[in-house]
Amino acid sequence: MRKGMKKNSGYSKAVFADSLVTSCEICNGLCALDIRLRGKKIIKVKGREEHAVSRGYICPKGLAVDEIVGAPDRIRTPLAKNRGGRWQEVTPAEAIKIIAERFNFIKAKYGAEALAVHVGRAGINKEFKYYLKRFCAAFGTPNFSTAESHCHLSKKMAGEITYGGLPVPDFAHSRCIVLWGSNPAASCPQLMRDIKQARGKGARLIVIDPREISTAKKSDLHLQIRPGTDGALALAMLHVLIKEKLFDKEFVEKWTIGFTELVALVDKFTPEKAESITWVPSEKIVEAARLYAGNSPACISIGIALELQTNGFQTARAISIMQAVCGNLDISGGVLFTPAPKLSSLKMEKDEAFSKPAVGQEKYPLFFKYNGNAQANMFARAILEGKPYPLKAMLLAGSNPVLTWPNAERVKKAFSSLDFLVVTENFMTETAKLADVVFPVGTFLSRDEFCDFSGLNGLPRLSLSPKIIDEPLMTDWEFCRNLAVEMGLEQFFPWRDEVEALNYRLEPLGINLDTLRHSLDHGYEYKKTEEKKYLKSGFQTESGKVEIYSKELERHGYDPLPVYHEPAESPVSTPELFREYPLILTSGARTLPYMHSRFHNIPSLRKLEPEPELEVHPHTASNLGIEDGELVLLESPRGRINIKVRITEDILPGVIAIPHGWDEANANVLTDDEALDPVSGFPPDRSYLGRIAPRCKFCGESEAGNNLPSPR
Ligand code: SF4
Repeated sequence: MRKGMKKNSGYSKAVFADSLVTSCEICNGLCALDIRLRGKKIIKVKGREEHAVSRGYICPKGLAVDEIVGAPDRIRTPLAKNRGGRWQEVTPAEAIKIIAERFNFIKAKYGAEALAVHVGRAGINKEFKYYLKRFCAAFGTPNFSTAESHCHLSKKMAGEITYGGLPVPDFAHSRCIVLWGSNPAASCPQLMRDIKQARGKGARLIVIDPREISTAKKSDLHLQIRPGTDGALALAMLHVLIKEKLFDKEFVEKWTIGFTELVALVDKFTPEKAESITWVPSEKIVEAARLYAGNSPACISIGIALELQTNGFQTARAISIMQAVCGNLDISGGVLFTPAPKLSSLKMEKDEAFSKPAVGQEKYPLFFKYNGNAQANMFARAILEGKPYPLKAMLLAGSNPVLTWPNAERVKKAFSSLDFLVVTENFMTETAKLADVVFPVGTFLSRDEFCDFSGLNGLPRLSLSPKIIDEPLMTDWEFCRNLAVEMGLEQFFPWRDEVEALNYRLEPLGINLDTLRHSLDHGYEYKKTEEKKYLKSGFQTESGKVEIYSKELERHGYDPLPVYHEPAESPVSTPELFREYPLILTSGARTLPYMHSRFHNIPSLRKLEPEPELEVHPHTASNLGIEDGELVLLESPRGRINIKVRITEDILPGVIAIPHGWDEANANVLTDDEALDPVSGFPPDRSYLGRIAPRCKFCGESEAGNNLPSPR
């Protein structure tokens, strides 16, 4: 290891009886784990009963951490491609030297902004994300981005613009829960305990989803909606609430602006009109509105499925407004505004002084305003077409864009044509295969990490997921700092190790890591829970009120009201394309065993879901003459994949659901990266058009081939 390259050693002192306590960092659930070690080997993992939030819950991914950490296919040595394009093992110091030299070369030749750094889902809510952003500022590039380019940020923007923040549903105390394009049983199962608790006390449950997911089967009302039309449904529900005077009149009068304009907007969105758009029977729309308004406090969970539509941002706005006019803001059982803990800023003055705007900043100014990052969905074009200027090098941390970004063929082509690509990872992914350097990093068990419960449960508590094993690998943070040191940027990274850096972040709270180590089961309560904070300080918007009519949107040339537009590809908006591609495709829904593209290589998880399967309704299958278990060729205007059919009544006729994250059948070969949401730049992964290729008239088989070029 080179001089100055620090490796944090030492274990957590958080030993309870015979187990080590930490928290799972795989998804947002942050479930507490009791882990027993023998020597360096994990011999037992279980959910920690004593933990105040997760209370013993653990999902199959958490149970599999021993397999993940000890997987035989973990990358354990950095790899660099030699001149012949072959992998060569190098030491960590050599790898960092190569990366530093190449990044500096790119900067000298093309300018600092030619480098982009992207942190994937594995780094969301993780400390190293903030340090990598700081690295970008120190290097001089504005092109830092995260998985928030296609997850979470769209609804966050809707919340910020409408009422100054994104509130969190308080499921446990609710009398009516709406899961709208949200499936916590698959995406964050820890939350199902709160939902079951509320149901046990009589709470009503409404599920809005094109698929009859397991939670829908147990709900009071399931609205099986045509993908991409949720905005029309929201406006029709608002129509009913207003027509039947089911809204909170006092709140609306005192705390909103633009209600009159809303009344005019929704006037024509009758449930009958919405039925023709959404395929949801009008009486169910009326019932949903009455259930929601009649069982206060009520909460709505806005899922990522709503964000991944061409009208996703305005849909999230319409639902945000519904929560407001029914008086469900910042109350127990409604949705809560819980501030995140105030930690030391890692921002530098340089953040404001880049010579060029970030990629996507000019096209999506509000996206940039509300997260300060580049829009990663624009990177492939910047690389291939030089728009708005060329990107020549990238660092991807915990991200696998070839499987997770829209239009995978373009993404692959773009990354293959970069001058230099670095990937930090645990495993050799489809994207890492394209890299010039693959740098292996430790798992979350080998580093201290904060657990912030404000964004998930609305609890103002900060806890710690302590390091419990020592892996002979750098953590992501160590990689970042060591690279900065090698590049002569040490002055911007004065912390000697990760513990010092985390302690620096905790300074404004007046605590340190030891405080958190001593409250692993309850976390540190940095604020008292308080409802209806707006009564004291108003809403954090320009007007101090809920902005149903948004002047900010108007100034940026967007519709100030939550209008509905058809999906960019649909039977209505593109009838000619629909004649060619007569199926509505929806892709990207999470499943319990996997985290997007991660962990398909873990045997116990693979056993739960061995292969990708297309969900097809029996009527659709019969119309197309396809059978259960058949391998078909699925095409969209972007590309085609081979995938096995599973016939199920759980999906709407005419709609096909495709799992994502599989390299064997990459759904993102089919998805679109051109018709993005005009405000957020999010891709429409949940609603686009496709077809199943006809069988060959001679042999009766579908055409063969995987990830073939575009049929158009
Ligand atoms: S739900 Fe599963 S993956 Fe998510 S934090 Fe809990 S154990 Fe980990």
